[in-house]
Amino acid sequence: MANVTKVLALVLSGLLLLTGCAGQGQQEQKPSIVVTTNILADVVTNLVGEQATVHTLMPPNVDPHSFEISAQQAALLQDADLVVSNGLNLEEGLSRQLTAVGEEGVNHFVATDHIELLNVPGTNGAADPHFWTDPARVVQVVDALEKDLKQIPGISTGPLDAATGTYRQKLEDLDAQMLTAFSAIPPAQRQIVTNHHVFGYLAERFDLKVIGAVIPSGSTLASPSAADLASLSGAIREAQVSAIFVESAQPDKLARALASETKIEVKIVDLYTESLSMAGQGAESYLQMMQANTEQISHALRD
Ligand SMILES: [Zn+2]
Repeated sequence: MANVTKVLALVLSGLLLLTGCAGQGQQEQKPSIVVTTNILADVVTNLVGEQATVHTLMPPNVDPHSFEISAQQAALLQDADLVVSNGLNLEEGLSRQLTAVGEEGVNHFVATDHIELLNVPGTNGAADPHFWTDPARVVQVVDALEKDLKQIPGISTGPLDAATGTYRQKLEDLDAQMLTAFSAIPPAQRQIVTNHHVFGYLAERFDLKVIGAVIPSGSTLASPSAADLASLSGAIREAQVSAIFVESAQPDKLARALASETKIEVKIVDLYTESLSMAGQGAESYLQMMQANTEQISHALRD
């Protein structure tokens, strides 16, 4: 009897050891997906769930235009099963490393390769990288991304299809909510001014008019001339714009100076537009960020 128990115990411990090893092995073999922006990383995580390790290069509250990575993060890029980036030079500080990804044959999904592009408002043909401000375009990117994720060994199609279906529905719901909210703003008040040109796609989708941007560029790294600021101040006054929307991660000194120069009452409204917030700040996921912005924009433009 004692012997039987002993044998049983041995067998059991052997089994435990085996399953323990298998678990560890699986973890090591999880595919690695490296994503540049925290917005895209959130989208990717919603699709792959626990099936892959998603490495997010940009932490919350950073400016994606100026963000740079460490040598350690660059090494992650080289070893990735898939690299996901925004493209159109949004990740200006990573351009060298992203070019290397292409040269070394690492699989690379560029989100803006899969949507109908718009030019940055008021520029001559510079393509606008801020596609995520239109949820309908995010759906197009998700559709294309799902195909690339399916090619990664170790990712099962069933759970991926199910998660993608659920997330696609959430994006479509968001799009419908935004349409309802922006339609409720009187057409004459649907005018926006931002810190830099971040809302071109949102404006096109929801029928808002872009009056201008404090930095008249699709990048935060540009700077306005005195003449640019004077002409925007005039445009704001003429159109009776009620608010300037600034990015929480960016200094708003220029926007404040501009608002006071218009001599009319212009609110400065802080939004998270191109980087998610820290937990608890109200924009920790893409869906949350868009819902919060929709609420704040429609509130600012209606009142
Ligand atoms: Zn930007």
